[in-house]
Amino acid sequence: MIAISEKEFENTFTKSFEGDDSGDRTPRQTPGKLYSRAAPTPVAAPKLLAWSTDLAEKLEVKYPSQTDIEILAGNKVTSSMVPYAACYAGHQFGNWAGQLGDGRAINLGEWSTKNGIFELQLKGAGPTAYSRHADGRAVLRSSVREYLMSEAMHHLGVPTTRALSLVSTGDNILRDMFYNGNPEYEPGAIVTRVAPSFLRFGNFELLAAQRETEKLRQLVNWTIDRYYPHLTGEENILKWFEEVVEKTAFLMSEWQRVGFVHGVMNTDNMSILGLTIDYGPFSFLDNYDHNFTPNTTDLPGRRYAFGNQPSIGYWNLGRLANALSLLFEDTEGLEAALGTYEKSFWDYYYGMMGRKLGFDKVGKKEKELISRFEKMLSVVQPDMTIFYRLLADVPSEAASEPVLHFQPSFYDNLEPQDEELFTALIADYYNMRKNSSLSEEESKKLMNLNNPRIILRNYLLHQAIEELEKGENMLFLKLQEALKQPYSLAGFEELVAKRPEWAAKKAGCSMLSCSS
Ligand code: AMP
Ligand code: MG
Repeated sequence: MIAISEKEFENTFTKSFEGDDSGDRTPRQTPGKLYSRAAPTPVAAPKLLAWSTDLAEKLEVKYPSQTDIEILAGNKVTSSMVPYAACYAGHQFGNWAGQLGDGRAINLGEWSTKNGIFELQLKGAGPTAYSRHADGRAVLRSSVREYLMSEAMHHLGVPTTRALSLVSTGDNILRDMFYNGNPEYEPGAIVTRVAPSFLRFGNFELLAAQRETEKLRQLVNWTIDRYYPHLTGEENILKWFEEVVEKTAFLMSEWQRVGFVHGVMNTDNMSILGLTIDYGPFSFLDNYDHNFTPNTTDLPGRRYAFGNQPSIGYWNLGRLANALSLLFEDTEGLEAALGTYEKSFWDYYYGMMGRKLGFDKVGKKEKELISRFEKMLSVVQPDMTIFYRLLADVPSEAASEPVLHFQPSFYDNLEPQDEELFTALIADYYNMRKNSSLSEEESKKLMNLNNPRIILRNYLLHQAIEELEKGENMLFLKLQEALKQPYSLAGFEELVAKRPEWAAKKAGCSMLSCSS
């Protein structure tokens, strides 16, 4: 175990590529540069609010001393760190947005451990060359959300960037949360994010848009060498793209499994490693609804709604392929690789749904049943998480009637025709599970490992944030503990409940703005 202040950071990225080393943080275009050096801006009174012991163990890093906390707040930079903001571009809501870059994330360097190499990044540490008109800061509310949710996703088994620490800054920041011309001061905070790489599709799109073919090739080769080292030899760029396609398809199926809606699937928020990245106005589904988007900026188009995520994943890969086409004589290979997305996604999807439903295999009959589940869930719109957990309780061996065992109170007010759809499906499902080669116990176990019981619902996050803003951390600590055991069979009963009525319309509990 070593303290952050004592660790020798590596700086492979800044050593390998041309950046703007001036340290100038005036917002500007930096053509041909992959990053700009940017020192974090000090804050008034850093205070450690949270520390991920689980991630700290993986990183072999000691619990932070006051000196370490100063580093996590951006008040101190050690001699081996080369802080920088990466330059990337992106398509936002379907439109080319040009250069974007890390407007409020500052990379400290690379942290090498026996578990691999990780980049450490401060989110909200002040302006960089890419801050455009914004302040480079993050409010407590959005930092708490990212800290808890990225750790929750990790424990759910979904690929994600992670969070090591949450520090309040003691500074206030002005935000117009509702975009209605009434800005208010809110407390600021900084999350230390951790990932093997924060490279996005947008890093590649930037160089392609600038026609920097050689730099693009260099970045692609570097990414392959470092993160896809098994891909060698001829056509390895194409093989690499195929893997990115595959990883993205898997990620989309995982989001569908747990009911996660990202909310801002712009290409600058798509990880080249297939990780969930850039937690903003995300939400878990409460009621099952394909059209649900948690992002107020995504209305009325609902481009990033729950049900659209897999096809947006494909669209985004298309933008990446387009950027990479600069490295190919023709686009045939890239098109073919892109064409594998659909099959990959559906294979992952049916496998995942099979496990959610407790089947050991998914053939034609199971696929038909899965489609009926989709249809029924969309009509009945039960709470997705509770629904699947209760489904595991449908007996598959008892000879008695299945439906009688399955009368959870939240289906009480079904329309008669919906109730018919529902009961008929559960009866067929019961028969299918009865005939499966898995025992009741085996299928139940499989289901409970694939259907979370505890998820971080937006209203819970909202309540935890309200408390923290008042200086109380009871709920925050409870959520931090509970998120580590999403598939547990018991405990934290008070968190296993439908979203209350009052939260359905309240800002921050159902929908959110990007203002963070
Ligand atoms: P997002 O979609 O939230 O990931 O952010 C889109 C772009 O806006 C990225 O380039 C961010 O770095 C930038 N950005 C968002 N919030 C801020 C902020 N408060 N200060 C500077 N840049 C920001
Ligand atoms: Mg982003």
